Amino acid sequence: MRLQRTEAIILHTFPARERDKLVVFLTPEHGKVKGYAYGARSMRTRFGASLEPLAKVRIGYVEREGEEIVRIESVDLIRSLFPAQQNLAASVAASYLAETVDTFAQSGDPAEVIYRLLDRTTEALLEGASPLRVLAYAEVWILRLAGVLPSLRNCNACDGPLGRPLRFDSGAHGFVCANCGADHAQVIANDVADVLDAIMLLPVGEFAVASVAPDALVEVRSLAAFFRRNFLGHELRAYEIVGGVIGG
Ligand SMILES: [Zn+2]
Repeated sequence: MRLQRTEAIILHTFPARERDKLVVFLTPEHGKVKGYAYGARSMRTRFGASLEPLAKVRIGYVEREGEEIVRIESVDLIRSLFPAQQNLAASVAASYLAETVDTFAQSGDPAEVIYRLLDRTTEALLEGASPLRVLAYAEVWILRLAGVLPSLRNCNACDGPLGRPLRFDSGAHGFVCANCGADHAQVIANDVADVLDAIMLLPVGEFAVASVAPDALVEVRSLAAFFRRNFLGHELRAYEIVGGVIGG
């Protein structure tokens, strides 16, 4: 039996049995963890409102040898998502962020970079950044961190350097040089390639206020969706809801 205390961000909670909750949370050192919060559904729970999706918390839990699901002992709220939930677009974006990270984060392995991505993007939503900007940023970065985003620097077919315009070849699952993609690759407009570069270079707070053409943002999101679907074999559940509420 081992007691862990760590910072964490709540990804999802599910009702479990009559009074309990099953909680999925992301930690910097141990990746994704699943735990039971006993009594969390009763009226007078010691967990209060700290077990809401995307709440940032300090959490204490007990791990037992050979058991996949831990027992949550204490949760102290560091930052609530509540203010962002007052805004429908931000609230939908937050659910989508949680699902994206839940889908790509692994259990057991350190997840410091994904944790930081989730922390900063959630903070940007709370600070009132455009939900569409924040989502495009998170979508591209999560693919990058999962090793799914093809190189923006080298040709996916011959490994030679990529110039502008960027060429996308769905058959090669990535970006190809002028030689490899001369006859069939789809030419990516330079403002779309600029958005991809900006996402890779800037912190989310700066990307949120950078000058970006709305069409280019939509194009970047559909490229990200192509790579994601290709990798997962399906689309995320919240993807269509995001389209309906936020657009893109
Ligand atoms: Zn090439």
